[in-house]
Amino acid sequence: MERLHDACGIVGIFARENGESIDVRRYLTLALTSLQHRGQESAGMAVYSSDGKIVSRIGMGKVREIFSDTGTGLPETHCGIGHVRYSTTGSSCVENAGPFVVGTEPNHYEAIAVAHNGNLVNGPALRAQLPQELLNSTTDSEAIALLLLHAGGPSLRERMISIIPQLRGAYSLVILAEGKLFAMRDPWGMRPLCLGRIGESWIVASESCALDRLGASFIRKVEPGELITIDEQGVHSEMLVRMPRQALCVFEYIYFSDATSRLNGRFVYSVREALGRELAREHPIEADLVVPVPDSSIPAALGYAEASGIAYSQAIIKNRYSDRTFIKPDQRLRQLEVDLKFNLVRPKIEGARLVIVDDSIVRGNTMKRLVAALRHYGAKEIHLRSSSPPLRHPCHFGIDIPQEVELVAAGRSVQEVADYIGVDSLGYLSIAGLGRAINSAGDNTLDDEAVTARLHREFCYGCMEKKGWPFDPVGAALSAQFIAPERRDPVIRGVQ
Ligand code: SF4
Repeated sequence: MERLHDACGIVGIFARENGESIDVRRYLTLALTSLQHRGQESAGMAVYSSDGKIVSRIGMGKVREIFSDTGTGLPETHCGIGHVRYSTTGSSCVENAGPFVVGTEPNHYEAIAVAHNGNLVNGPALRAQLPQELLNSTTDSEAIALLLLHAGGPSLRERMISIIPQLRGAYSLVILAEGKLFAMRDPWGMRPLCLGRIGESWIVASESCALDRLGASFIRKVEPGELITIDEQGVHSEMLVRMPRQALCVFEYIYFSDATSRLNGRFVYSVREALGRELAREHPIEADLVVPVPDSSIPAALGYAEASGIAYSQAIIKNRYSDRTFIKPDQRLRQLEVDLKFNLVRPKIEGARLVIVDDSIVRGNTMKRLVAALRHYGAKEIHLRSSSPPLRHPCHFGIDIPQEVELVAAGRSVQEVADYIGVDSLGYLSIAGLGRAINSAGDNTLDDEAVTARLHREFCYGCMEKKGWPFDPVGAALSAQFIAPERRDPVIRGVQ
Protein backbone atom coordinates (compact mmCIF):
# COMPACT_ATOMS: atom_id res chain seq x y z
CA MET A 1 0.00 0.00 0.00
CA GLU A 2 2.83 2.35 0.86
CA ARG A 3 4.20 2.19 -2.62
CA LEU A 4 7.78 1.41 -3.46
CA HIS A 5 9.01 2.66 -6.78
CA ASP A 6 11.21 1.25 -9.45
CA ALA A 7 13.68 3.45 -11.24
CA CYS A 8 12.69 3.03 -14.87
CA GLY A 9 11.26 1.14 -17.80
CA ILE A 10 13.10 0.88 -21.11
CA VAL A 11 12.32 -0.26 -24.64
CA GLY A 12 14.09 -0.46 -28.00
CA ILE A 13 12.70 -1.37 -31.45
CA PHE A 14 14.58 -2.22 -34.65
CA ALA A 15 12.42 -2.50 -37.79
CA ARG A 16 14.20 -4.34 -40.60
CA GLU A 17 13.87 -2.97 -44.12
CA ASN A 18 12.62 -6.25 -45.57
CA GLY A 19 9.96 -6.58 -42.88
CA GLU A 20 6.41 -5.39 -42.56
CA SER A 21 6.44 -1.60 -42.27
CA ILE A 22 5.76 -0.36 -38.74
CA ASP A 23 5.90 3.19 -37.41
CA VAL A 24 8.61 2.73 -34.78
CA ARG A 25 7.72 6.01 -33.06
CA ARG A 26 4.11 4.97 -32.46
CA TYR A 27 5.18 1.51 -31.35
CA LEU A 28 7.67 2.99 -28.91
CA THR A 29 4.97 5.27 -27.50
CA LEU A 30 2.62 2.35 -26.98
CA ALA A 31 5.34 0.23 -25.38
CA LEU A 32 6.30 3.07 -23.04
CA THR A 33 2.66 3.47 -22.04
CA SER A 34 2.53 -0.19 -21.05
CA LEU A 35 5.69 0.33 -18.96
CA GLN A 36 4.34 3.47 -17.31
CA HIS A 37 3.97 1.67 -13.96
CA ARG A 38 7.79 1.53 -13.77
CA GLY A 39 8.22 5.30 -13.85
CA GLN A 40 5.90 8.27 -14.10
CA GLU A 41 8.07 11.31 -13.59
CA SER A 42 9.55 11.67 -17.05
CA ALA A 43 9.55 9.99 -20.43
CA GLY A 44 11.75 10.19 -23.48
CA MET A 45 12.54 8.73 -26.84
CA ALA A 46 15.62 8.76 -29.11
CA VAL A 47 15.52 7.66 -32.75
CA TYR A 48 17.82 7.56 -35.76
CA SER A 49 16.92 10.07 -38.46
CA SER A 50 17.23 9.11 -42.15
CA ASP A 51 20.82 10.45 -42.26
CA GLY A 52 21.85 8.36 -39.23
CA LYS A 53 21.82 11.13 -36.66
CA ILE A 54 20.18 10.58 -33.28
CA VAL A 55 17.23 12.84 -32.49
CA SER A 56 15.50 12.79 -29.11
CA ARG A 57 12.63 14.25 -27.13
CA ILE A 58 12.39 14.09 -23.35
CA GLY A 59 10.08 15.75 -20.89
CA MET A 60 8.61 15.69 -17.42
CA GLY A 61 5.30 13.90 -17.08
CA LYS A 62 3.59 10.81 -18.34
CA VAL A 63 4.01 9.25 -21.76
CA ARG A 64 0.65 10.45 -23.01
CA GLU A 65 1.56 14.04 -22.10
CA ILE A 66 5.04 14.10 -23.65
CA PHE A 67 4.08 12.01 -26.67
CA SER A 68 0.56 13.25 -27.28
CA ASP A 69 1.55 13.09 -30.97
CA THR A 70 2.57 9.41 -30.44
CA GLY A 71 6.12 10.43 -31.29
CA THR A 72 5.32 11.50 -34.84
CA GLY A 73 6.99 14.86 -34.30
CA LEU A 74 10.28 12.97 -34.32
CA PRO A 75 11.77 11.87 -37.66
CA GLU A 76 10.47 8.72 -39.32
CA THR A 77 12.84 5.95 -38.31
CA HIS A 78 13.73 2.26 -38.48
CA CYS A 79 15.07 2.16 -34.92
CA GLY A 80 14.70 3.94 -31.62
CA ILE A 81 14.70 3.59 -27.85
CA GLY A 82 12.45 4.89 -25.09
CA HIS A 83 12.56 5.45 -21.37
CA VAL A 84 10.18 6.16 -18.49
CA ARG A 85 11.71 7.26 -15.22
CA TYR A 86 11.11 7.51 -11.53
CA SER A 87 13.97 9.21 -9.70
CA THR A 88 15.80 7.22 -7.07
CA THR A 89 19.20 8.74 -7.79
CA GLY A 90 19.40 12.29 -9.04
CA SER A 91 16.54 14.65 -8.57
CA SER A 92 13.33 14.80 -10.53
CA CYS A 93 14.10 17.27 -13.30
CA VAL A 94 14.24 17.22 -17.07
CA GLU A 95 18.08 17.16 -17.09
CA ASN A 96 17.88 13.73 -15.46
CA ALA A 97 15.31 12.32 -17.89
CA GLY A 98 16.44 9.67 -20.38
CA PRO A 99 17.43 8.56 -22.90
CA PHE A 100 20.82 10.28 -22.65
CA VAL A 101 22.33 11.29 -25.96
CA VAL A 102 26.08 12.00 -25.86
CA GLY A 103 28.78 12.69 -28.44
CA THR A 104 26.82 15.11 -30.56
CA GLU A 105 29.41 17.90 -30.47
CA PRO A 106 31.01 18.84 -33.85
CA ASN A 107 34.17 16.86 -34.71
CA HIS A 108 33.51 14.52 -31.82
CA TYR A 109 32.69 10.86 -31.61
CA GLU A 110 29.64 9.41 -33.19
CA ALA A 111 26.61 9.91 -31.01
CA ILE A 112 25.37 7.30 -28.55
CA ALA A 113 21.94 7.21 -26.87
CA VAL A 114 21.43 5.21 -23.68
CA ALA A 115 18.29 4.29 -21.75
CA HIS A 116 19.01 2.65 -18.41
CA ASN A 117 17.03 0.83 -15.73
CA GLY A 118 18.82 0.25 -12.43
CA ASN A 119 21.25 1.88 -10.08
CA LEU A 120 25.04 1.69 -9.78
CA VAL A 121 26.34 1.57 -6.23
CA ASN A 122 29.47 3.39 -7.40
CA GLY A 123 27.65 5.96 -9.53
CA PRO A 124 29.04 8.97 -7.62
CA ALA A 125 32.61 7.60 -7.87
CA LEU A 126 32.23 7.11 -11.63
CA ARG A 127 30.83 10.56 -12.10
CA ALA A 128 33.73 12.05 -10.17
CA GLN A 129 36.17 10.47 -12.66
CA LEU A 130 34.49 12.02 -15.70
CA PRO A 131 35.34 15.52 -17.01
CA GLN A 132 32.89 17.60 -15.02
CA GLU A 133 32.12 19.93 -17.93
CA LEU A 134 30.57 16.96 -19.76
CA LEU A 135 28.01 16.26 -17.04
CA ASN A 136 24.58 17.75 -17.52
CA SER A 137 22.70 15.59 -15.04
CA THR A 138 23.16 13.77 -11.74
CA THR A 139 22.32 10.27 -12.99
CA ASP A 140 24.15 6.97 -13.37
CA SER A 141 22.62 6.70 -16.82
CA GLU A 142 24.54 9.70 -18.12
CA ALA A 143 27.72 8.33 -16.52
CA ILE A 144 27.29 5.05 -18.42
CA ALA A 145 26.66 6.92 -21.67
CA LEU A 146 29.80 9.05 -21.20
CA LEU A 147 31.92 6.07 -20.16
CA LEU A 148 30.87 4.32 -23.37
CA LEU A 149 31.62 7.42 -25.40
CA HIS A 150 35.14 7.84 -24.02
CA ALA A 151 36.12 4.17 -23.60
CA GLY A 152 38.83 2.71 -25.80
CA GLY A 153 37.81 0.44 -28.66
CA PRO A 154 36.70 0.67 -32.27
CA SER A 155 33.13 -0.44 -31.68
CA LEU A 156 30.35 -0.15 -29.12
CA ARG A 157 30.91 -3.83 -28.33
CA GLU A 158 34.58 -3.24 -27.47
CA ARG A 159 33.74 -0.19 -25.42
CA MET A 160 31.08 -2.08 -23.50
CA ILE A 161 33.58 -4.82 -22.72
CA SER A 162 36.06 -2.25 -21.47
CA ILE A 163 33.61 -0.48 -19.12
CA ILE A 164 31.88 -3.53 -17.59
CA PRO A 165 34.57 -3.93 -14.89
CA GLN A 166 33.75 -0.43 -13.67
CA LEU A 167 29.97 -0.85 -13.43
CA ARG A 168 28.95 -2.00 -9.97
CA GLY A 169 25.26 -2.57 -9.60
CA ALA A 170 22.08 -2.93 -11.57
CA TYR A 171 21.89 -1.98 -15.22
CA SER A 172 19.58 -3.07 -17.97
CA LEU A 173 20.41 -0.97 -21.01
CA VAL A 174 19.13 -0.25 -24.50
CA ILE A 175 21.57 1.72 -26.65
CA LEU A 176 21.62 3.39 -30.06
CA ALA A 177 25.05 3.49 -31.72
CA GLU A 178 26.54 2.66 -35.14
CA GLY A 179 23.07 2.57 -36.71
CA LYS A 180 22.24 -0.48 -34.56
CA LEU A 181 20.23 -1.31 -31.46
CA PHE A 182 22.11 -2.82 -28.51
CA ALA A 183 20.72 -4.35 -25.32
CA MET A 184 22.78 -5.30 -22.29
CA ARG A 185 21.90 -6.70 -18.88
CA ASP A 186 24.16 -6.55 -15.83
CA PRO A 187 25.94 -9.79 -14.85
CA TRP A 188 23.45 -10.49 -12.03
CA GLY A 189 20.36 -9.68 -14.08
CA MET A 190 19.02 -7.45 -11.33
CA ARG A 191 16.49 -5.68 -13.54
CA PRO A 192 14.43 -7.55 -16.12
CA LEU A 193 14.88 -7.28 -19.89
CA CYS A 194 13.33 -9.42 -22.61
CA LEU A 195 13.46 -9.88 -26.36
CA GLY A 196 10.46 -10.11 -28.65
CA ARG A 197 9.61 -10.12 -32.31
CA ILE A 198 7.07 -8.27 -34.43
CA GLY A 199 7.21 -9.96 -37.84
CA GLU A 200 10.75 -9.26 -39.07
CA SER A 201 11.21 -6.48 -36.51
CA TRP A 202 12.69 -6.80 -33.04
CA ILE A 203 11.80 -5.33 -29.70
CA VAL A 204 13.68 -5.30 -26.40
CA ALA A 205 11.73 -4.20 -23.32
CA SER A 206 11.87 -4.21 -19.55
CA GLU A 207 8.81 -6.44 -19.34
CA SER A 208 6.89 -8.78 -21.56
CA CYS A 209 3.68 -6.76 -20.99
CA ALA A 210 5.13 -4.24 -23.49
CA LEU A 211 5.48 -7.03 -26.06
CA ASP A 212 1.91 -8.15 -25.46
CA ARG A 213 0.67 -4.61 -25.95
CA LEU A 214 2.31 -4.47 -29.39
CA GLY A 215 1.20 -7.93 -30.45
CA ALA A 216 4.84 -9.02 -30.43
CA SER A 217 5.82 -12.59 -29.68
CA PHE A 218 7.95 -13.22 -26.61
CA ILE A 219 11.25 -14.81 -27.64
CA ARG A 220 13.22 -14.98 -24.38
CA LYS A 221 14.73 -12.99 -21.57
CA VAL A 222 18.03 -11.22 -22.15
CA GLU A 223 20.50 -13.23 -20.07
CA PRO A 224 22.51 -11.64 -17.26
CA GLY A 225 25.84 -10.48 -18.72
CA GLU A 226 24.57 -10.77 -22.30
CA LEU A 227 25.05 -8.17 -25.03
CA ILE A 228 22.52 -8.31 -27.85
CA THR A 229 23.19 -6.47 -31.09
CA ILE A 230 20.36 -5.97 -33.58
CA ASP A 231 20.92 -4.79 -37.14
CA GLU A 232 19.68 -5.57 -40.64
CA GLN A 233 21.24 -9.04 -40.41
CA GLY A 234 19.20 -9.90 -37.32
CA VAL A 235 20.00 -10.57 -33.67
CA HIS A 236 23.53 -11.35 -32.49
CA SER A 237 24.06 -12.52 -28.96
CA GLU A 238 27.23 -12.64 -26.90
CA MET A 239 27.89 -13.40 -23.25
CA LEU A 240 30.30 -10.71 -22.10
CA VAL A 241 30.49 -11.72 -18.46
CA ARG A 242 29.19 -14.54 -16.28
CA MET A 243 28.72 -14.57 -12.53
CA PRO A 244 28.17 -17.65 -10.39
CA ARG A 245 25.03 -16.18 -8.88
CA GLN A 246 22.13 -14.31 -10.46
CA ALA A 247 20.10 -11.74 -8.59
CA LEU A 248 16.87 -10.61 -10.20
CA CYS A 249 15.15 -8.24 -7.74
CA VAL A 250 12.57 -10.40 -6.01
CA PHE A 251 10.27 -7.39 -5.74
CA GLU A 252 9.70 -7.62 -9.46
CA TYR A 253 7.48 -10.58 -8.62
CA ILE A 254 6.03 -9.22 -5.39
CA TYR A 255 5.11 -5.80 -6.62
CA PHE A 256 6.94 -3.92 -9.40
CA SER A 257 6.25 -5.81 -12.59
CA ASP A 258 2.92 -5.74 -14.31
CA ALA A 259 0.83 -8.73 -13.18
CA THR A 260 0.59 -9.93 -16.80
CA SER A 261 4.35 -10.03 -17.39
CA ARG A 262 6.50 -13.13 -17.32
CA LEU A 263 9.93 -13.16 -15.71
CA ASN A 264 12.47 -15.98 -15.74
CA GLY A 265 9.87 -18.33 -17.19
CA ARG A 266 7.19 -17.60 -14.59
CA PHE A 267 4.06 -15.50 -14.91
CA VAL A 268 4.01 -12.72 -12.32
CA TYR A 269 0.30 -13.18 -11.61
CA SER A 270 0.76 -16.88 -10.88
CA VAL A 271 3.66 -16.18 -8.53
CA ARG A 272 1.59 -13.59 -6.64
CA GLU A 273 -1.23 -16.10 -6.19
CA ALA A 274 1.31 -18.65 -4.92
CA LEU A 275 2.66 -16.04 -2.47
CA GLY A 276 -0.86 -15.74 -1.04
CA ARG A 277 -1.28 -19.51 -0.77
CA GLU A 278 2.03 -19.79 1.09
CA LEU A 279 1.01 -16.96 3.37
CA ALA A 280 -2.21 -18.79 4.25
CA ARG A 281 -0.26 -21.96 5.08
CA GLU A 282 2.26 -20.11 7.21
CA HIS A 283 -0.17 -17.77 8.97
CA PRO A 284 -3.68 -19.26 9.17
CA ILE A 285 -6.39 -17.47 11.13
CA GLU A 286 -10.13 -17.78 11.66
CA ALA A 287 -11.82 -14.90 9.88
CA ASP A 288 -14.84 -13.90 7.81
CA LEU A 289 -13.25 -12.19 4.82
CA VAL A 290 -9.92 -11.93 3.00
CA VAL A 291 -9.47 -8.36 1.74
CA PRO A 292 -6.68 -7.14 -0.55
CA VAL A 293 -5.12 -3.72 -0.35
CA PRO A 294 -5.68 -2.85 -4.01
CA ASP A 295 -4.42 -3.21 -6.67
CA SER A 296 -1.16 -5.13 -6.62
CA SER A 297 -2.15 -7.32 -3.62
CA ILE A 298 -5.25 -8.74 -5.31
CA PRO A 299 -3.66 -11.96 -6.68
CA ALA A 300 -1.99 -12.69 -3.30
CA ALA A 301 -5.31 -12.15 -1.50
CA LEU A 302 -7.03 -14.48 -3.95
CA GLY A 303 -4.34 -17.08 -3.25
CA TYR A 304 -4.81 -16.64 0.50
CA ALA A 305 -8.60 -17.00 0.17
CA GLU A 306 -8.25 -20.10 -2.00
CA ALA A 307 -5.84 -21.85 0.37
CA SER A 308 -7.69 -20.84 3.56
CA GLY A 309 -11.25 -21.35 2.34
CA ILE A 310 -12.19 -17.89 3.65
CA ALA A 311 -14.41 -15.74 1.42
CA TYR A 312 -12.71 -13.04 -0.65
CA SER A 313 -14.04 -9.51 -0.76
CA GLN A 314 -12.88 -6.18 -2.11
CA ALA A 315 -13.96 -4.22 0.93
CA ILE A 316 -11.25 -1.65 0.22
CA ILE A 317 -11.74 0.09 -3.11
CA LYS A 318 -9.01 2.15 -4.71
CA ASN A 319 -10.04 5.64 -5.66
CA ARG A 320 -8.88 5.82 -9.26
CA TYR A 321 -8.63 9.57 -9.32
CA SER A 322 -6.49 10.24 -6.28
CA ASP A 323 -2.87 11.24 -6.79
CA ARG A 324 -0.05 8.95 -5.80
CA THR A 325 1.23 9.40 -2.27
CA PHE A 326 4.81 10.20 -3.19
CA ILE A 327 4.12 13.41 -5.04
CA LYS A 328 2.56 15.05 -1.98
CA PRO A 329 5.04 17.57 -0.65
CA ASP A 330 4.61 17.23 3.11
CA GLN A 331 3.74 14.65 5.73
CA ARG A 332 0.39 16.23 6.60
CA LEU A 333 -0.84 16.05 3.01
CA ARG A 334 0.57 12.55 2.65
CA GLN A 335 -1.44 11.43 5.65
CA LEU A 336 -4.61 13.04 4.37
CA GLU A 337 -3.99 11.22 1.10
CA VAL A 338 -4.78 7.87 2.68
CA ASP A 339 -8.35 8.90 3.16
CA LEU A 340 -8.54 9.96 -0.46
CA LYS A 341 -6.81 6.91 -1.85
CA PHE A 342 -9.22 4.24 -0.62
CA ASN A 343 -12.96 4.00 -0.22
CA LEU A 344 -14.18 1.51 2.40
CA VAL A 345 -17.26 -0.67 1.90
CA ARG A 346 -19.01 -0.38 5.27
CA PRO A 347 -21.41 -3.39 5.00
CA LYS A 348 -18.41 -5.69 4.41
CA ILE A 349 -16.39 -4.23 7.27
CA GLU A 350 -18.87 -3.64 10.07
CA GLY A 351 -18.69 -6.45 12.63
CA ALA A 352 -16.39 -8.56 10.42
CA ARG A 353 -13.17 -10.39 11.19
CA LEU A 354 -10.88 -9.30 8.34
CA VAL A 355 -7.65 -10.69 6.93
CA ILE A 356 -6.02 -7.75 5.17
CA VAL A 357 -3.42 -8.83 2.59
CA ASP A 358 -0.76 -6.38 1.45
CA ASP A 359 2.37 -6.95 -0.63
CA SER A 360 4.77 -4.97 1.54
CA ILE A 361 4.91 -2.94 4.73
CA VAL A 362 7.53 -0.20 4.52
CA ARG A 363 7.21 2.58 7.12
CA GLY A 364 3.88 1.31 8.40
CA ASN A 365 2.32 4.77 8.72
CA THR A 366 -0.11 4.40 5.86
CA MET A 367 -1.22 0.97 7.04
CA LYS A 368 -1.66 2.32 10.57
CA ARG A 369 -4.08 4.92 9.24
CA LEU A 370 -5.94 2.41 7.10
CA VAL A 371 -6.31 0.10 10.11
CA ALA A 372 -7.66 3.02 12.16
CA ALA A 373 -10.16 3.76 9.39
CA LEU A 374 -11.26 0.08 9.28
CA ARG A 375 -11.79 0.15 13.05
CA HIS A 376 -13.78 3.35 12.64
CA TYR A 377 -16.01 1.49 10.15
CA GLY A 378 -16.64 -1.19 12.76
CA ALA A 379 -14.21 -4.03 11.91
CA LYS A 380 -14.32 -6.57 14.73
CA GLU A 381 -10.85 -8.05 14.19
CA ILE A 382 -8.06 -7.07 11.79
CA HIS A 383 -5.38 -9.61 10.88
CA LEU A 384 -2.67 -8.24 8.61
CA ARG A 385 -0.75 -10.54 6.26
CA SER A 386 2.23 -9.39 4.16
CA SER A 387 3.16 -11.33 1.02
CA SER A 388 6.75 -10.16 1.38
CA PRO A 389 9.04 -10.93 4.32
CA PRO A 390 9.86 -8.00 6.63
CA LEU A 391 11.86 -5.18 4.99
CA ARG A 392 14.81 -4.51 7.26
CA HIS A 393 17.46 -2.93 5.00
CA PRO A 394 17.62 -0.22 2.35
CA CYS A 395 18.05 -0.99 -1.35
CA HIS A 396 21.26 0.14 -3.06
CA PHE A 397 20.12 -0.93 -6.51
CA GLY A 398 17.50 1.60 -7.51
CA ILE A 399 14.42 0.92 -5.40
CA ASP A 400 13.37 3.64 -2.99
CA ILE A 401 13.35 1.52 0.17
CA PRO A 402 14.37 3.97 2.90
CA GLN A 403 17.15 3.62 5.46
CA GLU A 404 16.71 1.28 8.45
CA VAL A 405 15.63 4.07 10.75
CA GLU A 406 12.45 4.58 8.70
CA LEU A 407 11.60 0.89 8.17
CA VAL A 408 8.98 -0.24 10.65
CA ALA A 409 10.28 -3.84 10.72
CA ALA A 410 13.94 -2.90 11.29
CA GLY A 411 14.84 -3.48 14.94
CA ARG A 412 11.27 -4.44 15.91
CA SER A 413 9.76 -7.85 16.60
CA VAL A 414 6.68 -8.88 14.61
CA GLN A 415 4.54 -8.29 17.70
CA GLU A 416 5.98 -4.80 18.12
CA VAL A 417 5.11 -3.99 14.50
CA ALA A 418 1.59 -5.37 15.02
CA ASP A 419 1.21 -3.20 18.12
CA TYR A 420 2.48 -0.14 16.27
CA ILE A 421 0.07 -0.62 13.35
CA GLY A 422 -2.77 -1.57 15.67
CA VAL A 423 -3.77 -4.99 14.28
CA ASP A 424 -4.91 -8.07 16.19
CA SER A 425 -2.29 -10.23 14.48
CA LEU A 426 0.44 -9.82 11.88
CA GLY A 427 2.06 -12.46 9.68
CA TYR A 428 4.87 -11.95 7.20
CA LEU A 429 5.70 -14.52 4.55
CA SER A 430 9.01 -16.21 5.40
CA ILE A 431 12.05 -16.18 3.10
CA ALA A 432 11.52 -19.92 2.55
CA GLY A 433 7.86 -19.29 1.75
CA LEU A 434 8.92 -16.65 -0.76
CA GLY A 435 11.29 -19.12 -2.39
CA ARG A 436 8.67 -21.85 -2.41
CA ALA A 437 6.08 -19.60 -4.04
CA ILE A 438 8.48 -18.45 -6.77
CA ASN A 439 10.28 -21.67 -7.47
CA SER A 440 7.71 -24.34 -6.97
CA ALA A 441 4.38 -22.58 -7.52
CA GLY A 442 3.41 -23.55 -3.99
CA ASP A 443 4.82 -27.11 -3.91
CA ASN A 444 5.15 -27.48 -0.15
CA THR A 445 6.93 -30.83 -0.31
CA LEU A 446 10.29 -29.05 -0.80
CA ASP A 447 12.12 -28.35 2.44
CA ASP A 448 12.94 -24.82 3.57
CA GLU A 449 16.67 -25.21 3.05
CA ALA A 450 16.29 -26.33 -0.58
CA VAL A 451 13.88 -23.55 -1.57
CA THR A 452 15.92 -20.89 0.22
CA ALA A 453 19.13 -22.06 -1.47
CA ARG A 454 17.45 -21.84 -4.86
CA LEU A 455 16.07 -18.39 -4.09
CA HIS A 456 19.60 -17.35 -3.13
CA ARG A 457 21.08 -18.58 -6.43
CA GLU A 458 18.57 -16.72 -8.55
CA PHE A 459 17.34 -13.61 -6.74
CA CYS A 460 18.29 -10.51 -4.79
CA TYR A 461 16.40 -10.26 -1.48
CA GLY A 462 18.92 -8.03 0.30
CA CYS A 463 16.32 -5.63 1.70
CA MET A 464 14.98 -8.59 3.73
CA GLU A 465 18.30 -10.21 4.70
CA LYS A 466 21.71 -8.73 3.96
CA LYS A 467 23.02 -12.04 2.60
CA GLY A 468 20.39 -11.67 -0.13
CA TRP A 469 22.43 -8.94 -1.85
CA PRO A 470 24.51 -10.30 -4.74
CA PHE A 471 27.54 -8.56 -3.25
CA ASP A 472 28.24 -6.15 -0.42
CA PRO A 473 27.00 -2.90 -1.97
CA VAL A 474 28.85 -0.67 0.46
CA GLY A 475 32.19 -2.42 0.06
CA ALA A 476 31.77 -2.69 -3.72
CA ALA A 477 31.36 1.04 -4.00
CA LEU A 478 34.90 1.36 -2.64
CA SER A 479 36.76 -1.45 -4.40
CA ALA A 480 38.86 -0.54 -7.42
CA GLN A 481 38.43 -3.71 -9.47
CA PHE A 482 35.03 -5.26 -9.49
CA ILE A 483 34.85 -7.85 -12.23
CA ALA A 484 38.04 -9.00 -13.86
CA PRO A 485 37.62 -8.43 -17.63
CA GLU A 486 39.14 -11.82 -18.40
CA ARG A 487 36.08 -13.46 -16.85
CA ARG A 488 34.17 -12.64 -19.96
CA ASP A 489 33.39 -15.36 -22.42
CA PRO A 490 33.58 -13.93 -25.94
CA VAL A 491 31.78 -16.82 -27.62
CA ILE A 492 28.99 -15.87 -30.00
CA ARG A 493 25.93 -17.73 -28.73
CA GLY A 494 23.85 -17.48 -31.81
CA VAL A 495 22.70 -15.38 -34.70
CA GLN A 496 19.03 -15.28 -35.56
S1 SF4 B 1 17.56 -4.95 -2.14
FE1 SF4 B 1 15.34 -5.51 -2.30
S2 SF4 B 1 14.42 -3.94 -3.63
FE2 SF4 B 1 16.68 -3.79 -3.86
S3 SF4 B 1 17.15 -5.04 -5.67
FE3 SF4 B 1 17.37 -6.36 -3.86
S4 SF4 B 1 15.33 -7.32 -3.60
FE4 SF4 B 1 15.07 -5.58 -4.98
